[in-house]
Amino acid sequence: MASSQYDCIIIGSGIGGLCTGAVLARRGKKICVLEKQHQAGGYAAHFKRKNFEFEVSLQQIGGINKTFLKYILMDSGISAKVKFKKHAYLYEAISEHDELNVPNGNIKLLKKILYGKFPREKFGIRLWFFLIWKIGRESFWWDRAVRSKFLLPLLYFIAPILFPFITFSHKISLQKVLDLCTKSTPLKAILMQLLKYYGNSLDIACLLPLIATYGYYYDGGYYPEGGSKAISEAFVKTIREGGGDVFTSNEVVQIITEDNRAVGVRTNKGETFFSQVIICNISPFKVYDSLLSGWKGSHKQLAINRKMLIGPTMSNLHLGLDIPIAELNQRFAKSYIVILNSGTSSPNTLACYSNMDSGICPKDKSILSVTYMDNYDTWAQLSTEEYRKTKKKEYGRVLAILEQHLPGISSHVEVAELATPMTMERYTGNPKGAIYGFAQSIGQAGLDRFKNKGPLKNLYFASAWTFPGGGFEGAMRAGHKVAREIFSSL
Ligand SMILES: Cc1cc2nc3c(=O)[nH]c(=O)nc-3n(C[C@H](O)[C@H](O)[C@H](O)COP(=O)(O)OP(=O)(O)OC[C@H]3O[C@@H](n4cnc5c(N)ncnc54)[C@H](O)[C@@H]3O)c2cc1C
Repeated sequence: MASSQYDCIIIGSGIGGLCTGAVLARRGKKICVLEKQHQAGGYAAHFKRKNFEFEVSLQQIGGINKTFLKYILMDSGISAKVKFKKHAYLYEAISEHDELNVPNGNIKLLKKILYGKFPREKFGIRLWFFLIWKIGRESFWWDRAVRSKFLLPLLYFIAPILFPFITFSHKISLQKVLDLCTKSTPLKAILMQLLKYYGNSLDIACLLPLIATYGYYYDGGYYPEGGSKAISEAFVKTIREGGGDVFTSNEVVQIITEDNRAVGVRTNKGETFFSQVIICNISPFKVYDSLLSGWKGSHKQLAINRKMLIGPTMSNLHLGLDIPIAELNQRFAKSYIVILNSGTSSPNTLACYSNMDSGICPKDKSILSVTYMDNYDTWAQLSTEEYRKTKKKEYGRVLAILEQHLPGISSHVEVAELATPMTMERYTGNPKGAIYGFAQSIGQAGLDRFKNKGPLKNLYFASAWTFPGGGFEGAMRAGHKVAREIFSSL
């Protein structure tokens, strides 16, 4: 059995863990990333079926130029390695009697369009976007300010004066603020159209995660050339350039402790790795239930976690078509993100990937994916046979919706893969197939969010589960924050 020594070990190679690794590798730390899957990236990955290359998760990242993400991409050494594209529309929303094409990163034009649609709601529209702007800007300056280790204690003291919106917005419900801005149900539906990108249902979501929409509205939604795997690969390259290692097909089964300190890990292959700090990019449930099950404090931590709400999950139907999308309906010839609103049920979001990235399938074919919020428990209770049958039924249901917009699509499906919340759970190990970790609800967001520093000495957490939150931006911000903390403590 081999044994190796590193400065930092990262368990899991999701986007948050890889970001921590890349930032630290560029600062001279010897990094070891251990990933249980055969490829790095977690949700930030691709998979192949025949000659189609499917995106596992990413549709868009909000804000690359005007948010703090710009500095994270530079600090982690990947800004020169990954090119981002911006579609003309942030999204196109299609309802039964209406269409709304939202200009990408052009807030002035979007407001003008909304004033035209809702002339009596100008005040509410202005207030809503003012709040997003204010929270987004405060968060940007907060992230910049906390880079100084010496200013930090002072900052926490004066935060309510300098950063009033982010200080209090994790205590206010999103629903209340939406009601304050407008009574119009159709306008509310439009203002909430991006909810899927950052949060939970309106009953529990707090206002703070609106930070995520600042990037989308005021800067734009971006997609990396080569897809999300281009980001993962760029991080892996940076870690290796710094002398670090990324080992795939290596599941960590134990965190080794000594006198209440995390000192190393053991893998399923029986190998041990030792380091000064251990960073968990995996769910805290897995950490306390299994990896640290031998540590005396793990039961208490697990009990705390079990009381917390888990955030949303989705299903994703990936389709490889034997013709270009335009041949089914010219209207979709140049579309990328299309939200199909259908009355009472939650919207389906169509991502026409081959319109955005022509290299992912042959020119005479196309790829599109349909994502929608789903419920883990309805899938988890099924037997293997029922699960298989329900998947088939679900495929038919979604295809019937698509037929209304892309007539004839059913006879052009060459490859179809439905990823349910169970698939997400199996692939990443995230309980209930959560995509943004814990819910962004009051009591679980902002300063109340799951902490990056663990209860054991030298143990850290950097993922969608932790502060500040999920999604590509949230996980990278978590990763960057942890890297800074570790660097200043080592
Ligand atoms: C369908 C879908 C669409 C999405 N769309 C968007 C979008 O458009 N924009 C956006 O910003 N976000 C989107 N997201 C969310 C985003 O993908 C996630 O929030 C983010 O990628 C989570 O990153 P993470 O760092 O938490 O790690 P994860 O991606 O959760 O990765 C964790 C890694 O840890 C590994 N692991 C687990 N246990 C072990 C172990 N014991 N040993 C070793 N390795 C282990 C797993 O295999 C995995 O690779 C989407 C997600 C999904 C599923």
